[in-house]
Amino acid sequence: MDFSLSADQVAFQDSVRGFAEKHLAAGAVERAHNVGFPWDVAKLMADQGLFGIMLSEEDGGQGGTLMDAVLAMEQIALVCPRSADVLQAGNFGAFRTFAQYATPLHREKYFGPLLRGEAVAAVGMTEPDAGSALTDLTTHCTRDGEGWRLNGQKIFTTNSGEASVFVVYCRFGPGVDGIGSVLVERGMEGFTTGAPSLYMNDEEWCALFFDNVYIAPEMVLLGPGGFKKQIAGFNVERVGNTTRALALGEYAFREAKLHAETRKQFGRVLAEFQGLQWKFAEMRVALDGARLLLYRAAVNGGNGLPDAQEVAIAKYACNQAGWFASNEAMQVMGGMGYSKDMLIEYCVRRTRGWMIAGGSLEMMKNRIAEGVFGRSFSQRPPKK
Ligand SMILES: Cc1cc2nc3c(=O)[nH]c(=O)nc-3n(C[C@H](O)[C@H](O)[C@H](O)COP(=O)(O)OP(=O)(O)OC[C@H]3O[C@@H](n4cnc5c(N)ncnc54)[C@H](O)[C@@H]3O)c2cc1C
Repeated sequence: MDFSLSADQVAFQDSVRGFAEKHLAAGAVERAHNVGFPWDVAKLMADQGLFGIMLSEEDGGQGGTLMDAVLAMEQIALVCPRSADVLQAGNFGAFRTFAQYATPLHREKYFGPLLRGEAVAAVGMTEPDAGSALTDLTTHCTRDGEGWRLNGQKIFTTNSGEASVFVVYCRFGPGVDGIGSVLVERGMEGFTTGAPSLYMNDEEWCALFFDNVYIAPEMVLLGPGGFKKQIAGFNVERVGNTTRALALGEYAFREAKLHAETRKQFGRVLAEFQGLQWKFAEMRVALDGARLLLYRAAVNGGNGLPDAQEVAIAKYACNQAGWFASNEAMQVMGGMGYSKDMLIEYCVRRTRGWMIAGGSLEMMKNRIAEGVFGRSFSQRPPKK
């Protein structure tokens, strides 16, 4: 078993790192505290060929692998944590699931602006009464001639204030097999967004309201029976969430290490106190272990969709390691770690969210246990 990166992968890492240091290092703190989507970063990344890393060249992408995208994400996040969200949008997020199932017409209409960093896509899955129990969603399509009418509501949609196209999970009929998805563009009649709310991480989200929105036949992404395919695609989005969690933990670790090597108290540098040395040992073990699980999921994903079980294991480990390292780094850095002048507190707030988003830690453990026992365990009350 070879744990080393290939020469090409190392060269790619170096080039992404060079790009990030040149264009993103300055302003990293301000960027993290700005609520809006960093469009300037999107343009820079698109011009650098950092969007559509996993898409084929004929689709306007780079023809790379999931592992390439993971390596790029790590390098960006280590220089500018907030910019990693932009890489997410151009590679892992709603766009990736969309790209997996897009028709030629979708490709022609939407891929260009998304890959040039001029537009961003969002995914509306969660509803007020359908969070972890996503298959309880009630947003639905009813027939109207050749097309459909969409009614319902979504909450918590990332980039909801900025996206121009939304992949909306919806119901065409009863049960899991009745679930599919449609594309909704901002500005379509009957589609409105609510007042912005702020997450703890300073990201904005708005509720999405669909009031009899006309969905032309070509705006259906996946019809009834599409749910499992959508979740298979969503596993790539999970890898993006997982990678950012790990990378922000690593960012915080490195900042804390530098601080511990230079900051003196009681006449010696912090690194000489064993109580703090052990924190670094624990952080290193957590981050390295989680990274191996992430790389396994990414490498085995090749240039297709990764294995659900490997992703669930990696997400669970990286979400925890990222948050643990960020939180411990904050403790090591004392008041400086807690201050908004540095990005450690941002890493704590951000990594905390990924323990909930994209399938909570608990839902990941449910998924992992199903893999362990080779059977599914219904979370619903027993039928009487
Ligand atoms: C930063 C962030 C970004 C997000 N982005 C998006 C987005 O772009 N699009 C979108 O559609 N949604 C998004 N979400 C929503 C996210 O997917 C949901 O918050 C998540 O699925 C959990 O649903 P919930 O909040 O309704 O919590 P609930 O489902 O109500 O769960 C509450 C708690 O109960 C636990 N729980 C629930 N069921 C079980 C069970 N069977 N076993 C054990 N524990 C259980 C959960 O793990 C959680 O701890 C985002 C959320 C966050 C925080």
